[in-house]
Amino acid sequence: MTDAELRERALKVVPGGMYGHLNAAIFAPGYPQFFLRGEGCRQWDADGREYIDLMCSWGPVVLGHRHPKVEEAAARQLALGDCLNGPGPVMVELAELLVDTVPSADWAMFSKNGTDATTQALMVARAATGRAKVLMAHGAYHGADPWCTPSTAGTTPNERADLVEFTYNSLESLEAAAATAEGDVAAIIVTPFKHDSFEDQELVEPAFARGARALADRIGAALVIDDVRAGFRIDLRGSWEPYGVRPDLTAWSKAMANGYAIAAVTGVDALRGAAQSLYSTGSFWFSAVAMAAAKATIETLRDTDGIAAMERAGTQLREGLYAQAKAHGFTVNQTGPVTIPWLSFDGDADLSTALHWSDACLRHGVYLHPWHNWFLSAAHTEEDVARALEGTDRAFAETRAHLG
Ligand code: PMP
Repeated sequence: MTDAELRERALKVVPGGMYGHLNAAIFAPGYPQFFLRGEGCRQWDADGREYIDLMCSWGPVVLGHRHPKVEEAAARQLALGDCLNGPGPVMVELAELLVDTVPSADWAMFSKNGTDATTQALMVARAATGRAKVLMAHGAYHGADPWCTPSTAGTTPNERADLVEFTYNSLESLEAAAATAEGDVAAIIVTPFKHDSFEDQELVEPAFARGARALADRIGAALVIDDVRAGFRIDLRGSWEPYGVRPDLTAWSKAMANGYAIAAVTGVDALRGAAQSLYSTGSFWFSAVAMAAAKATIETLRDTDGIAAMERAGTQLREGLYAQAKAHGFTVNQTGPVTIPWLSFDGDADLSTALHWSDACLRHGVYLHPWHNWFLSAAHTEEDVARALEGTDRAFAETRAHLG
């Protein structure tokens, strides 16, 4: 069954043939929608085409597809049972591991998706403060629930009425947002760096991170870090730990279990009672297999220094891409941490050059994306990155030939 045949069948039984970010209407043309398998840093699409995977399933795959340690732990738990009347002992072990690993974590609660975690974190903040308003950065993605989905279809203005927007990295704008909601701010929610789609990424200004912490303390609001996308690729202790800024609550998911479905909120002692007061549950939130996979993933990242491996691969990729772009006469911007990179072409506001280049990369066996950041994994070896760079070099050459 080819990708085209699957799309045609899907059109009859799935609204639009596909939804969300994979919907062909907003995805990049020429991209496959269906995949057969993954192994290490490679994936094979439904047409059997092999790619060096620079998207890592949009973040979750951090050690490489089918990592033996994670698969072993998941299989061992699966042999005992996954969805039981309550969680397995592994829930406690995983919570202990997070509390030991993340300095701002005195407790952990688990769910399934990043949206569960961001939503739950804000509920904890509101339960603790008895306040309604949440300050969030304009354009930031925090999930697909009605309060945060980028498309307002199917939502009501009421569902967003308690959000006050600020500009990422502008302390002045954050202070102004807080002033408009004076006395009623439950939380500031912020991603560890600016990773909005279609735009160059922006690392956080340390003064902004420290200022957000100080403001939250001054007004008695919770500082929530949405580490769903960046978590476990910058610093296992939390992505603002290198800046010495600790949140009150953190939302985690994506890379936590190397592809198994799990999310977590971690928080400080002062918010334990508020967390306990929520009615938090889901049919699959206590499944033991994903918890076993998460424990194995975090331990393996820790014991093998997986982030250092990703940094080496990401640096090799970034340097290689700069050299190639220059050789082919392009000026490119590479932004964000090297482990969560993105490349844009100078003066390419309509992304037409990016679309041409990424499509050529795809044809030369490199899966990356024209308007969403990419992800490295600890499985990307020097040889794999070199192989990816062969594909990107041909893509630059073809894009140059196309543009003349
Ligand atoms: N927050 C951030 C920063 C994200 O990148 C995402 C997912 N891209 C989410 C929240 C939502 O996570 P999920 O798609 O697992 O619900």
